[in-house]
Amino acid sequence: MASEPCEACGEAVPIGGGIAGIWSSDPEGTGGMTLELGDGTEHFLCFACIEGLPDEPTAEDVAELGTR
Ligand SMILES: [Zn+2]
Repeated sequence: MASEPCEACGEAVPIGGGIAGIWSSDPEGTGGMTLELGDGTEHFLCFACIEGLPDEPTAEDVAELGTR
């Protein structure tokens, strides 16, 4: 299974089923997704970190997650 490091916490996040897997009814095997922020930047984050973001996250919020 492929994995990618979460940009905030640095954990290796397993990615199952490619992009389509994110939207499938079986989230097991996929631990994160790429978020496109309002400022146009993209960040791959695990779901735990995504839950820690505010409603309109910025790149600064993502960077801040990694320092907690
Ligand atoms: Zn994370």
